[in-house]
Amino acid sequence: MLLIWIKYQNLFIFFTHIIYIYLNLILVLSMSRSKKLRVLKNIKLRNVRYALRTILRLEYEKRLDILGKKWSEVEGNESLTYEQKVRQQKEIIAQREQLDLIKRKYPINCAICGDRMEDLVWNPNRHQWRCVPCYEQAHKNFPEIYP
Ligand SMILES: [Zn+2]
Repeated sequence: MLLIWIKYQNLFIFFTHIIYIYLNLILVLSMSRSKKLRVLKNIKLRNVRYALRTILRLEYEKRLDILGKKWSEVEGNESLTYEQKVRQQKEIIAQREQLDLIKRKYPINCAICGDRMEDLVWNPNRHQWRCVPCYEQAHKNFPEIYP
C-alpha cells in the first residue's frame, strides 16, 4: 500500500513538473526577446502558476527535511566510525547541493523575498530568479550585474 502511495505521489510530482515546464515553455515562446522577464497577465493562469510553484516549493522543502533527518541519523549513529560518518555526510551535502541547483534553475519563487505570485526575471549573471520589484532594486544598485 505504501509503495502504491509513493508511486502515485511521484507520478503526481512528475505530472506537476511536466505541466509547469509546459507553462514556462508557452511563456518563453510568447515573451519578448529583448527582455528576460516572464509576464503573465491572465489572472487564472497566474493562479495556476502560483499553485504549481507552491507544489514545487513544498516538494523542495519535503526533500530538504528528508536530508536533514538523514543527517541527524548519521550524526547520532554510534555504530559508525568517524570516517563512515564523514563519508555519509559528504553524500548528504552533495545531495543538498544538487537539490538547490535544481531549484535554482526553475522560476519557483523570488530568490530574495520568496514571492511566488509575481512575474520573475532571470539574471544570467547571478543564475537566479527575482521578482520585478527585487530585480529593479538590484538594477538601481548594481546595473552592471543586473542589466
Ligand atoms: Zn522579490
